[in-house]
Amino acid sequence: MRTQTSLRDVSLNLGLPKPLEMMSDEEILRKVVIGKVFTRTLKSLTTSFLDEDFDWLLPVIFSKSTDPLWPDPGSSIEKRIETEIYGETVRTTLSMIVHKMVACSLAYPKLFTLSPNVRVEKRERKSTGWHAYEFSQLDFEVRGASSSAIRSLVERVVIKLVEDLRKGCEAELTQLGQYDVLKIPKSPFKVFDREELEKEYGGSWETLLPKVIKEPVWVVNIPREFYDFEEVTGRWDNYDLIVPKYGEVLSGAKREWEYNKILKKIERDGIRKENFSLLLKLSKEGRLKQTAGAGIGVERIVTWIVGANHIGEVQPFPKIPGIVNEL
Ligand code: AMP
Ligand code: MG
Repeated sequence: MRTQTSLRDVSLNLGLPKPLEMMSDEEILRKVVIGKVFTRTLKSLTTSFLDEDFDWLLPVIFSKSTDPLWPDPGSSIEKRIETEIYGETVRTTLSMIVHKMVACSLAYPKLFTLSPNVRVEKRERKSTGWHAYEFSQLDFEVRGASSSAIRSLVERVVIKLVEDLRKGCEAELTQLGQYDVLKIPKSPFKVFDREELEKEYGGSWETLLPKVIKEPVWVVNIPREFYDFEEVTGRWDNYDLIVPKYGEVLSGAKREWEYNKILKKIERDGIRKENFSLLLKLSKEGRLKQTAGAGIGVERIVTWIVGANHIGEVQPFPKIPGIVNEL
């Protein structure tokens, strides 16, 4: 007879996630149960943003300008996908950060989108269990918001998500052995400064911190791409949300909007100005506004909720670095 948590045992024998057509009936059953939690997660997250009066935009796939993902120490891209349409070079979306900054400044003061990101991660990342080469972000941005306002919003959204899932997916979470593991987090979440973490754990704080925390926590002040706001002191006004056992599920920041600063930082990072000409133009004209926001890795948050061994387990069509299936 099936014990209540038997689907967790299925996962222990899984190895790397397989495509649907190669799965046993029991493995498919587990996939289906995870799929229910995924659906409820999307419902809860999108409802939270709609209830807070956000506009829901659809994503884009190709643009001339996309996230440089540089110099983010966490990024490890094997190949950047560029192609040509109508005689113009376009790139697949690495994130919708540039689109968000422009759309939020010019038209939609509170926006979110569910955006597919294609990041051809280095193939050795297949065994982290935490990287897919296609994934989705719930990416949002708010005109004039402070970082602390965004962090409070995220805390409300995450708490509501866990509450909704504990109510709406009690049977599924029990089958996955997660009902007793997944506790409703308490707000405000703890905040750690990256500099303090480096003193305590050295350079590997990102892998060590998730092992010692029991609830989601914030890490602030992380050096990375030019668009995150840097204070005159050199402190970065940005934040990551870290969940126990796994790691980062969200990155966000208050953004830069002043022309001279953006230009200097682009030059400092050694990235091509011509790939960000619209941002530079709008900031020069004073049309780029101060905004703040974040992107939630949707598959990562579900991986944490269902206690998966590999992020590919929560994807209907796993996109594991180095492994290209037919679908
Ligand atoms: P980033 O802008 O790189 O911080 O990405 C935003 C969010 O997307 C991260 O906080 C993760 O939750 C998620 N993410 C980034 N890279 C991956 C990946 N390779 N696979 C799955 N999720 C990812
Ligand atoms: Mg990040």
